[in-house]
Amino acid sequence: MAEKIIPIADQRYPHAVPAVPRQLEAPSGEITDSLGRSLHDLRISVTDRCNFRCVYCMPKEIFDHGYAYLPHQSLLSFEEITRLARVFVAHGVRKIRLTGGEPLLRKDIDKLVAMLSALRTPDGKPLDLTLTTNGSLLARKAQALKDAGLTRVTVSLDSLDDATFKRMNDVDFPVTEVLRGIDVAHEVGLGPIKVNMVVKRGANDQEILPMARHFKDTPHILRFIEYMDVGSSNGWKMDEVLPSAEVVRLIDSELPLTPLTRHSADETAERWRYRDGSGEIGLISSVTRAFCGDCSRARLSTEGKLYTCLFATAGHDLRALLRSGHDDAQISTAVAHLWRAREDRYSALRAQSTEGTAHANETKRVEMSYIGG
Ligand code: SAM
Ligand code: SF4
Ligand code: SF4
Repeated sequence: MAEKIIPIADQRYPHAVPAVPRQLEAPSGEITDSLGRSLHDLRISVTDRCNFRCVYCMPKEIFDHGYAYLPHQSLLSFEEITRLARVFVAHGVRKIRLTGGEPLLRKDIDKLVAMLSALRTPDGKPLDLTLTTNGSLLARKAQALKDAGLTRVTVSLDSLDDATFKRMNDVDFPVTEVLRGIDVAHEVGLGPIKVNMVVKRGANDQEILPMARHFKDTPHILRFIEYMDVGSSNGWKMDEVLPSAEVVRLIDSELPLTPLTRHSADETAERWRYRDGSGEIGLISSVTRAFCGDCSRARLSTEGKLYTCLFATAGHDLRALLRSGHDDAQISTAVAHLWRAREDRYSALRAQSTEGTAHANETKRVEMSYIGG
């Protein structure tokens, strides 16, 4: 008989099982943390696996054949994800983003989308249900995702030049396949599509203008993301961050831009439009302009740990509550207490620090592929 292997991989990060208060409370549809920030946005990581090895996220040296991914039984099931999502929606979440790892690698992901798209906000509205993908499987899956009720997709693409893109994804994946995914997603109605480009100085900054020229005059919105010090495996250095202000200056020198107002206070991207009226771009300045003051995002890891900040070092084990028989009212009350106690503002503290980082112990930071970007 085969030996039973007891997985230890899901104990990789510190976490605590949340206390369940005796006094249960009904969700009111709005909840604020210790700094007055609401809970509007939930990101759910559906897998910690990926078919890319982006140098800034899952570098090959660490995420190699010996890397211990989460065992299947550690992952939240679709029923568990939907149950937790319902609890969060009752507390005011209006937008859910599926992410990972690469979310399209999760088997039957369209079935999860269908389950989540059936949820309604307390005032009876459908959710804004989106997904972030590297685009590699998008052409194949876009129609099923649309049919299941997905509202939009965000596609990551760091370069239009094949050699640069292959150096960034580190698995020899060609640009054309991602562009095809974007086209198909647009055709089936998953737009407006946002295209995310992480800018790493010295790696792909020469691609800023070609990307801007390419996506100008298309219905897609190109967004430039500052390379972040998330996780502890990408060897992040402040010198490799190209500030958004420089990106704007560069594009504006060739394709004149004018600023737009944000759609809402908790929107992460600063918006600009081309002065000739041919579309807009976004800038996500996670490093040079902290947006902690309006951060309304919670993250649910692949194995059901709640993180109240992308840079948190410890999660709250909601899966333990689910699997030990707690009911929705108990879990909802526990989540309310966790959110009310939230005081995270890592990027704001980083901005004040002289070392360019705000954690004493960087090795404990949770990886982006686990917590979801
Ligand atoms: N695999 C999917 C993808 O790449 O779109 C979804 C997960 S990925 C972790 C989500 C987003 O995080 C992507 O747009 C990716 O480019 C971004 N990202 C990953 N590591 C980053 C880093 N160190 N700094 C800034 N953005 C990062
Ligand atoms: Fe995979 Fe996305 Fe991370 Fe790239 S950024 S390694 S595609 S999870
Ligand atoms: Fe939100 Fe944390 Fe990012 Fe600040 S650092 S914006 S609190 S996720």
